[in-house]
Amino acid sequence: MSTFLGMPYAPRGVGHLRGEEPFPVAARAALGDTQLRRNLGKATRTIRAKRAAVVAELPDWEELRAAGQAIKQRTLAHLDHYLEQLESRVQEHGGTVHWARDANEANRIVTGLVRDTGADEVVKVKSIVTDEIGLNEALAGAGITAHETDLAELIVQLGHDRPSHILVPAIHRNRAEIREIFLREMADVDPGLTDTPAALAEAARLHLRRRFLSARVGISGANFAIAETGTLCVVESEGNGRMCLTLPDTLITVMGIEKVIPSWRDLEVFLQLLPRSSTGERMNPYTSLWTGVTPGDGPQRFHLVLLDNGRTAALADPAGRPALHCIRCSACLNVCPVYERTGGHAYGSVYPGPIGAVLSPQLTGVEDNASLPYASSLCGACFDACPVRIDIPSLLVHLRARHVEEAARSRRLPTAEAVAMAAASWVMASPGRYAAAQRAGRAGRALGRQGRIRRLPPPLSAWTAARDAPAPPAQTFREWWQHEHGNADGSAG
Ligand code: SF4
Repeated sequence: MSTFLGMPYAPRGVGHLRGEEPFPVAARAALGDTQLRRNLGKATRTIRAKRAAVVAELPDWEELRAAGQAIKQRTLAHLDHYLEQLESRVQEHGGTVHWARDANEANRIVTGLVRDTGADEVVKVKSIVTDEIGLNEALAGAGITAHETDLAELIVQLGHDRPSHILVPAIHRNRAEIREIFLREMADVDPGLTDTPAALAEAARLHLRRRFLSARVGISGANFAIAETGTLCVVESEGNGRMCLTLPDTLITVMGIEKVIPSWRDLEVFLQLLPRSSTGERMNPYTSLWTGVTPGDGPQRFHLVLLDNGRTAALADPAGRPALHCIRCSACLNVCPVYERTGGHAYGSVYPGPIGAVLSPQLTGVEDNASLPYASSLCGACFDACPVRIDIPSLLVHLRARHVEEAARSRRLPTAEAVAMAAASWVMASPGRYAAAQRAGRAGRALGRQGRIRRLPPPLSAWTAARDAPAPPAQTFREWWQHEHGNADGSAG
């Protein structure tokens, strides 16, 4: 285990939930990208203002949040029951349900299903969970081309890029950059394409329309699955999802097991919480709902792949479990001061921002994303914004503690941090030792300029590599007290 800027990290392998670089390293590079910071700052400021305006319209917003939290708590407490109910209802309506323990199993199932149709290309929508399992790469390995149809996902795919936001995967791109990508990657695009939103949208529309009309297989994620009727729900803003869900002969939906909700009444709560929190809209432009197969209407084959991939492990930790309440609205990303400055790529995880910092380590095991729970100032803005009241700061602290405990168990020698803490504890246990340490620390004033120390000698240099340390004051608090109030026995100081 190494440390960087005082934060622990272990070098990690390539994966969709595991980045190539730990957060502190990737964040430092991102912070140097002024264009990225400008793009992110503008986008998150705009979404924050829209969200705040529509949330303020609802006098019962806090009650709605509490209802959303209660529904998720109840569902996860009886997850086995609701999943089996969902499976039965989907099957009763002509669908087929598959259970996948992990990414490999899910990819094998989906690839096999596409192969069975004889298709060599698919259209995809609303499927961050398929990014989690690396489905596009698995399909490509089987000779099947996946076309993303969500506009932002399309920009990311054509740009040979990675998503950096849950809701707006191309948030790190501005219009000029998107125009360049379209001109470079779309074979039949108008060479006179401008970077106005209407022109870019029209270019994407023409490009995608051909895909929709020829694709025989659609692959989607799901926002919710209603156990009582076996109904799947996708919410989106463009209508591309509606085409993806209705035009192909075969529809394959890959869904994390935590997305199930018991009833339609529960959906009512989430359809109020989600659009306001995500896009800052009162209601969602396109809400698609389907139950199994309807003869002569829409896809005639429907497969639902229920994915675990670490979720039952998170479920087993009562303190970590609330991360599974997430409805992927992205409000926590938009208010996070860390996300706003570093962007999503620095997290090295499909799920970036505050929710990624608590979800990804639980899905992969804390050691595999050890730096993410430290990627927060614990300011609490994410908790205030979360429509299902996930206490992300407490989860972050819980995961930090888990990481420290797991690291301590696997190590024979104590870390420098553990030695420093033990020494501090010894010093603070005795007033005499504490006063002596303060006197000794005063020598550090020589290192200070204008009350700040910019560089401390090793091993304390890890602290000042990322921040200044305050220079010790000329007078300690105890000395000031003695001067002002006299000694404990009432004599003058
Ligand atoms: S943790 Fe809460 S705020 Fe963040 S994406 Fe999930 S539901 Fe939205």
